Amino acid sequence: MGHPVLRARARALDPSDIKSPAVQRLIDDMFDTMREYQGVGLAAPQVHESLRIFVAGFAPAPGDEDEEDEGDADRRVPVMALINPEITPVAGELVEDWEGCLSIPDIRGKVPRAKQIVVRAHDRRGKRIEIRASGFTARVIQHETDHLDGVLFFDRMKSFETLTFLDEFGRYWSREEVEAE
Ligand SMILES: [Zn+2]
Repeated sequence: MGHPVLRARARALDPSDIKSPAVQRLIDDMFDTMREYQGVGLAAPQVHESLRIFVAGFAPAPGDEDEEDEGDADRRVPVMALINPEITPVAGELVEDWEGCLSIPDIRGKVPRAKQIVVRAHDRRGKRIEIRASGFTARVIQHETDHLDGVLFFDRMKSFETLTFLDEFGRYWSREEVEAE
């Protein structure tokens, strides 16, 4: 946070450039970075590339399956790399839940987001795709798409009352681990 690229509107990709080695390498590097920092999503401006690309995806570790409840299942996010995403909320309903951000380390806050969305984008092969998402996946897609418009999750909070350091989050707010995005 503080780098001007995070506040800029990122440039759309020409679909014919998506298959270029440079873009494919960037997507691979973004997946590596996201996993290295244990994020559930990462947008290109977060690695200082002002392009409309984000990657996302998270599954609980296989060893954790036993303790899985509906909350964990809801936190599963399919692996995706989306280019030039366009979001349409399905219904007006907003839900508040915790978010973090790899560009704002060790801080959590509650952010209202559309519960259900449709996102139209290109995939990494350049194919047009349409995804309907809800719950945590819809939240991650909205958070990452915001990065492409220079918007950070602070900007979406209704109030800063829930702004919390990670230590205090663990102590007072969380009974389960929340992933940084
Ligand atoms: Zn973020």
